[in-house]
Amino acid sequence: MESTLRRTWSEILLDNLAHNYYVLKERIGTDVKFLGVVKADAYGHGAILVSRLLQELGCDYLAVSSLDEAVELRVNDITLPILILGHTPKDEVEHLIKYNITQAVTCKAKAVEYSEEAVKCGGTLKVHIKVDTGMSRLGYLCDGDFFDTGVDGILEAIQMPGLETEGIFTHFAVSDEPGEDCKAYTEHQFKLFTDVIKAVEEKWGHSFAIRHCANTGAVARYPETYLDMVRPGLLLYGYGDFAKELGLRPAMALKTNVSTIKTYPAGTAISYGGIYTTDKTTRIGVLPYGYADGFFRALSNRCSLMTVDGPAEVRGKICMDMCMIDLTDKPHVDVGSEVEVFGESNSINELAALAGTIPYELTCAVSKRVPRKYIRHGKIIESELLLRM
Ligand SMILES: *Cc1c(COP(=O)(O)O)cnc(C)c1O
Repeated sequence: MESTLRRTWSEILLDNLAHNYYVLKERIGTDVKFLGVVKADAYGHGAILVSRLLQELGCDYLAVSSLDEAVELRVNDITLPILILGHTPKDEVEHLIKYNITQAVTCKAKAVEYSEEAVKCGGTLKVHIKVDTGMSRLGYLCDGDFFDTGVDGILEAIQMPGLETEGIFTHFAVSDEPGEDCKAYTEHQFKLFTDVIKAVEEKWGHSFAIRHCANTGAVARYPETYLDMVRPGLLLYGYGDFAKELGLRPAMALKTNVSTIKTYPAGTAISYGGIYTTDKTTRIGVLPYGYADGFFRALSNRCSLMTVDGPAEVRGKICMDMCMIDLTDKPHVDVGSEVEVFGESNSINELAALAGTIPYELTCAVSKRVPRKYIRHGKIIESELLLRM
């Protein structure tokens, strides 16, 4: 059965995504490759259609966080190189090779395991070496006293049988944060990264084909870090302050519609816990959109959603499946009227700030019961519901 698509839905605006891709391509220039980060189901936008579009537009590389995410793309016509940024258990090396997936190598123990497994199955695993320059998550530790052991460890991995090293990368911790301290920290990370590359290449006698480190913050603010390839996620989807500055457009609109309207006298408590009480005759609309759809309960009584008559305040606690908005001065909003939770008219950046979080968390939180409509050239080209029907 097809979903009715009429309760609450997301619109994936592929035209905006294409626009963002072209703007970013223009920014990085023709000599720099573009890796589109499509982990976490393309930040909640749907990895398959987003990747198909990026492939069609001429993107060079994709990145995901796990083998399952990579295989999902491979079995859905994606032939672009795919890099797994996170951990893959060693018994899956066979599948990495079979599906032609590039794996990050983050330390000696993994390099040894991956090499042994690749040799065992008679194949070659393509890898990118991950350097920890200050993110303190994954990667060969290379800062300060660890420089020489880091460089030697990387060199050792490169020379292991069964591994073919194509690239080397690092990840910035504060490239998107303002302030001189963060700038200095990012510059230190970048310098360390290039120093490590230089030291390894000198001993190795070869160069890395693809050196990459620029995430969203660095693509927006540190052009000197582009090297051979950039690796933006958030920017591509058009969110955050940098996206606004660069003229990028949001790739998702989350929409719902008014299911019921009632008018209450002054002194009526709305929703669980009675945290909001009407102070006059109040027209309240019920939306079929709650925290089980991906709304944040922390936004209860604290944000507004966009109607044809302008922003309407959310009143009372947000429930699992519903929330209430104030339609007192909204004469054109009726049962069935569309309401935008976030999108081109209600900024996700502001909603995220109000919830004390970042836009990524809001798009990733959109749940599987919210169907997606993919829109290209102004027309719905595909709809998708992740519930099993
Ligand atoms: C998620 C991720 C990115 C993309 O980050 P954005 O801030 O969305 O640009 C890049 N590189 C790595 C290693 C990541 O994990």
